[in-house]
Amino acid sequence: MKVYFIGAGPGDPELITVKGKRIIEMSGYCIYAGSLVNKDILKYCNKDTKIYDSASMALDEIISIIEEAKQNNKDVARVHTGDPSIYGAIQEQMSELDKRGIDYEVIPGVSSFLAAASALKQELTLPGVSQTVIITRVEGRTPVPETEGLEILAKSKATLCIFLSIKEIKKVVNILKPAYGANCPVAIVYKASWKDEKVIISNLDAVVDAIIQNDIKKTAIIIVGKVLSKNFEYSKLYDKHFNHSYRH
Ligand code: SAH
Repeated sequence: MKVYFIGAGPGDPELITVKGKRIIEMSGYCIYAGSLVNKDILKYCNKDTKIYDSASMALDEIISIIEEAKQNNKDVARVHTGDPSIYGAIQEQMSELDKRGIDYEVIPGVSSFLAAASALKQELTLPGVSQTVIITRVEGRTPVPETEGLEILAKSKATLCIFLSIKEIKKVVNILKPAYGANCPVAIVYKASWKDEKVIISNLDAVVDAIIQNDIKKTAIIIVGKVLSKNFEYSKLYDKHFNHSYRH
């Protein structure tokens, strides 16, 4: 018996890995994070799979379902949105499984910031512009360590992928403007890879109004950085004078 923490991907049910899908098909139990995982993923469950939505469950309820699966000697597909390692709250589940001697494995998934970049047809690391991508959020119920405040990260002028913060867009803009400039491009991708995906391309000055107009209040990634202006140098990678043995 084993628990598999599976990244379901950002929404489109075809964006799960082949391995994740195979494990869902063979597991006797499926516990999925119903607030963001596309329910279409559940069509991969077999007809006898016991299916639970963890959206309204506390940690101990999730663990007791896993304990029941253990008693019945059935595998558990624990399905999280995007990639489980990004704001996935999986560490506490794994700690509880460690305490009980229950075996587990993590199967990665396509994180929503990557689906957002795809929706934008955008490389996040452009030569001469930015070679760093920062994944962050502003404080909500979960605090952000002082040393990682957005005003500190902004000093890098790196490409920022900001999760869980669309409701705080005004605050994000005010903090970023001094470092990135009012004209710095911003992209908002709502429900990347879902049928009702929305993409907004704006700048730090105008983005708050754009979000109000489009009525976006949740499930969005904010991407900020000069990479979005597509003003860049061609990469050395496909340069005919470049030795490909350096490509590692
Ligand atoms: N583990 C997930 C993130 C979970 S936190 C991942 O790797 O993507 C939830 C936040 O992720 C949301 O507030 C939103 O910022 C972002 N998010 C999740 N799915 C999204 C999607 N399809 N499009 C845009 N943002 C999404």
